[in-house]
Amino acid sequence: MNPEVEKVKVLIIGSGPAGYTAAIYAARAGMNPVLYTGGQPGGQLTITTDVENYPGYPDGIMGPEMMEDFRKQAERFGTQVRYGLVTAVDFSKRPHLVTVDDQVQISAETVIISTGASAKWLGLESETRLNGKGVSACAVCDGFFFRGQEVAIIGAGDTACEEASYLANICSKVYMIVRRDEMRASQIMQKRVKNNPKIEILWNTETEEILGTDEVTGVRVVNNLSGEKREIAISGFFVAIGHQPNTSIFRDFIHMDSSGYIKTIPGTTRTNVEGVFACGDAQDNVYRQAVTAAGTGCMAALDAERFLAEQE
Ligand SMILES: Cc1cc2nc3c(=O)[nH]c(=O)nc-3n(C[C@H](O)[C@H](O)[C@H](O)COP(=O)(O)OP(=O)(O)OC[C@H]3O[C@@H](n4cnc5c(N)ncnc54)[C@H](O)[C@@H]3O)c2cc1C
Repeated sequence: MNPEVEKVKVLIIGSGPAGYTAAIYAARAGMNPVLYTGGQPGGQLTITTDVENYPGYPDGIMGPEMMEDFRKQAERFGTQVRYGLVTAVDFSKRPHLVTVDDQVQISAETVIISTGASAKWLGLESETRLNGKGVSACAVCDGFFFRGQEVAIIGAGDTACEEASYLANICSKVYMIVRRDEMRASQIMQKRVKNNPKIEILWNTETEEILGTDEVTGVRVVNNLSGEKREIAISGFFVAIGHQPNTSIFRDFIHMDSSGYIKTIPGTTRTNVEGVFACGDAQDNVYRQAVTAAGTGCMAALDAERFLAEQE
């Protein structure tokens, strides 16, 4: 091995709630963790405004501020937080070799993957402009802000159906925009939305533009069979067309499902590779919340600590 390769006990990849929580636990356990932030220091919550469902903040908190608190807490116990993107890994033997920014190499006794997942977007200019101003990719996170109001959701899978049902519980009406004349979702999920009187499904419909200057006021949709256009007044626009886990660099070594979510041994954060652990949204296609990411981050640090103790 190149003698200049730095050796670390615990290398954490990613700086969202999962990574920082793993860092807090690993640092307090005396494992001197090194954490690489990736291209989005603080993770997904840095692109949102109010977070009202994270325990411990009774008045809510802005996402970026909350992630600053996470970082400070991790650094307080000695975590080395470094800016850099992990560009390659070699998990074929231990210690594991991790390359940062195509240049720096690190030899890690344990690796905690907390690289998160990114929501897929439609790619409309109005969607980007109004993101966080009525456009959201998370009904559970942001639905509450639209209680009693009319909203739209786009998507046709199980998640879209589940989120439409969730929104229907708190909003006065939900338009579900579906591109084709059928849905991908399971029959049971479809039945649930079709039978919900507060959900109106717009079949063969595509979004042309989300309307509004400073906040969402409506959506212009087009029927892709007739070409007929229609403007609908709404205050929230939810995109539920899937997520992409940020896991492609691990593909050659780590077992994943067909969407790229890392498979962990149930009840643990262990992956198929000894000494490599995964937490947060990178391994969770179900809950995808900050508090669940933080919970599994804690688990990953404890699993890494036990693993290292077993090796001694
Ligand atoms: C707009 C929006 C609003 C939300 N609101 C809420 C809310 O109100 N409440 C709630 O509980 N949840 C909310 N969520 C969901 C929540 O943000 C996620 O569940 C949570 O952030 C997942 O944490 P994570 O640590 O797994 O990953 P992320 O927060 O996605 O962080 C991933 C980290 O990995 C880093 N990374 C990725 N690839 C690499 C690499 N190759 N090398 C190094 N680093 C890398 C990134 O830079 C980032 O720091 C919201 C999400 C969005 C998008």
